[in-house]
Amino acid sequence: MVQEHKLIMVVEDEEDILALLQFNLMKAGYEVSCAARGVEALEKIAAKRPDLVLLDLMLPGIDGLEICRRLRADPSTADVPIIMLTAHGEEEDIVRGLELGADDYVTKPFSFKVLQARIQTVLRRNPDTDTPAEDDTFCCGDLQIHPGRNQVLVAGEPAELTFTEFRVLLTLASRPGWVFTRYQIVNAVRGDDYAVTDRAVDVQIAGLRKKLGSCGRYIETVRGVGYRFQENL
Ligand code: CA
Repeated sequence: MVQEHKLIMVVEDEEDILALLQFNLMKAGYEVSCAARGVEALEKIAAKRPDLVLLDLMLPGIDGLEICRRLRADPSTADVPIIMLTAHGEEEDIVRGLELGADDYVTKPFSFKVLQARIQTVLRRNPDTDTPAEDDTFCCGDLQIHPGRNQVLVAGEPAELTFTEFRVLLTLASRPGWVFTRYQIVNAVRGDDYAVTDRAVDVQIAGLRKKLGSCGRYIETVRGVGYRFQENL
């Protein structure tokens, strides 16, 4: 199996969680490197580039967000996938982490199965195929999105979306199951200089859901964090 050769760096200061993760990841066939402190994590990552980082946010000293920022700022680690390990009530940090470039997060306590599924998704991910090609039609139940034609069909009928609504939908649907923060949505749709408010995105989403009718349910609100396209309903 491919995953046998993947190196996962686990950054976690709680010893029991660290030990449990190490045990389960090794059992699942991954190579595992561990760090309980930010400095140690950065040193180990610099010495040997991991294929993925599991990153606890609440760490003594250099915290998870700062590690995330530094990894993204360094060209040699800019594209190493990061899954944040977060606690309940850390929504603001989750939002910041996603905006700093973390790929995903799981909230403690999590089942190892869930974490493993996220790891596999992130490791499989190919940045080149994230966005559907112009001619690719995206289908999900009664919903059809034709990127090249700027067209959306709900149960065969065209939905009259504004260009912005269309771009928001395309952004979310390009990575089903992944959470986008409002800021990320606006960036994807308008570029970096558009002055954004959370409210502006919420209004787009509300309009989009209404126009999509029965397919509006695919757009899920992730409380305190943002939105995601959920196809497995
Ligand atoms: Ca911690």
